[in-house]
Amino acid sequence: MRNYLKHYINGEWVESTGSDVEEVINPATEEVIGKISLGTKEDLDKAVKAAREAFPSFSTMSKDDRVKMLERIAEEYEKRKDDIIETITDELGSPLAVSEKVHFMMGYNHFSQAAESLKEFSFMEDMGGHTRVKESVGVSGLITPWNFPTNQTSTKIASAFAAGSPVILKPAEVTPFAAIILAEIFEAAGVPKGVFNLVNGKGDVIGDGISSHPGIDFVSFTGSGRVGKKIMQNASESIKNVALELGGKSPLVVLEDADIEQAARTAVNHIATNTGQVCSAATRILIPNSMKEAFEEEVLKVLPEFTVGDPRQDNKVGPLISKKQWNTVQSYIEKGVEEGATLLAGGTGKPEGLDKGYYTKMTVFSDVKNDMTIAEEEIFGPVMSILTYEDLDDAIRISNDTEYGLAGYVVGEDKEALRKVATSIRAGRIKVNDAEADFAAPFGGFKQSGIGREWGDHGIEEYLETKTILGYPS
Ligand code: NAD
Repeated sequence: MRNYLKHYINGEWVESTGSDVEEVINPATEEVIGKISLGTKEDLDKAVKAAREAFPSFSTMSKDDRVKMLERIAEEYEKRKDDIIETITDELGSPLAVSEKVHFMMGYNHFSQAAESLKEFSFMEDMGGHTRVKESVGVSGLITPWNFPTNQTSTKIASAFAAGSPVILKPAEVTPFAAIILAEIFEAAGVPKGVFNLVNGKGDVIGDGISSHPGIDFVSFTGSGRVGKKIMQNASESIKNVALELGGKSPLVVLEDADIEQAARTAVNHIATNTGQVCSAATRILIPNSMKEAFEEEVLKVLPEFTVGDPRQDNKVGPLISKKQWNTVQSYIEKGVEEGATLLAGGTGKPEGLDKGYYTKMTVFSDVKNDMTIAEEEIFGPVMSILTYEDLDDAIRISNDTEYGLAGYVVGEDKEALRKVATSIRAGRIKVNDAEADFAAPFGGFKQSGIGREWGDHGIEEYLETKTILGYPS
């Protein structure tokens, strides 16, 4: 049982000023695996005070020292590899291999990438008539969701540290344990006191407190659009800048000359990874009319390889995060059937033999129209919608007919067509033919998918203000 009833404030583990606790549940077993304290506004005030006191020395720490600090963090992070993998599998339910190759590695890559980006980053530029200086934005409040417990926390923290911004982190209350390990890592890496503060708690208390706190200069949030809007409203009271990473309903355009077996595998992989609980997952698969039947056949062939089950056994897909999320996914599947989509695989209910745990069936809908609910709204589960298109212009039109713009994908051979689709989709990140991940590449969304860009040097920029100096003595 992991009982973490303290917050990490000013370099120490401190008791909460409140007495409320929250149980954390393993979604694969439905069993309680630990508890956290639910912080109060008083706890948050203490963390803000510590961060503000740390600001003058941390924001002026030399670039070299900040690079070394990030490198030490990456080393300490690596030492905790087994703990991180075990913890994420327990709190999120992701298969051990996914906890290692996706969750553990993403955190590691963000810290090492931030060190590399910082080495090349210029904080002062002589423009001839004036000098431009980039300075830390101040104290940053970070609010993160449950679906990537190390990725979203690490990208924000690594960038803030690179920019010299002390932080207060409020992780999602359903997956809080990975953030506790991060605090221990920062302690071991010698992060100065007050630079990293962790206050656990509810969104409407600590999250709300962060977005409206006059002592916090900048808020970086990843989560739902519903909460993102509230954060913007709250932040407007003190004219704080916000970065928002929100949802998506991303298209995968399969070109006529695509390798159909590979395209089907890519499409299934998108709904399987993290049990489809990925903001940038391709969930609308756009197929040329002429390829529809052949593609569906391939999807059905590939699907059984993606076994759903115990994340500690050799399965590819774990449970959904919670009973609430399970119910949400079921109602979207019902809606898909009601609105006339063809259920090609899966459906409502639990997969056979998996009565315990929030497991859901890998589900594929065909004959989906872009105005159906399952094509418009983010489901956040392993549900694929297959749509068809007439020609490339039609594929681009359908791709862009959404309120979101987080990501887009295109697979095929014809370079002209690949370029046309890649440059025409209105989204922050486009992937051509399963290109490799690049942690220096900016990540963020157009339209209702958010504001701002994380990762690499763009991530560092978010935690900086620009100062202009006229007549700077050379
Ligand atoms: P959520 O918005 O419910 O919660 C996110 C965080 O906000 C949690 O820490 C929560 O406690 C906190 N919160 C809740 N109410 C709050 C309030 N009133 N004020 C301030 N904070 C509050 O989202 P979730 O259910 O945890 O995550 C799923 C959503 O996150 C999906 O919509 C998904 O697309 C999105 N997401 C986006 C990205 C991205 O990078 N664009 C990445 C992952 C998840």
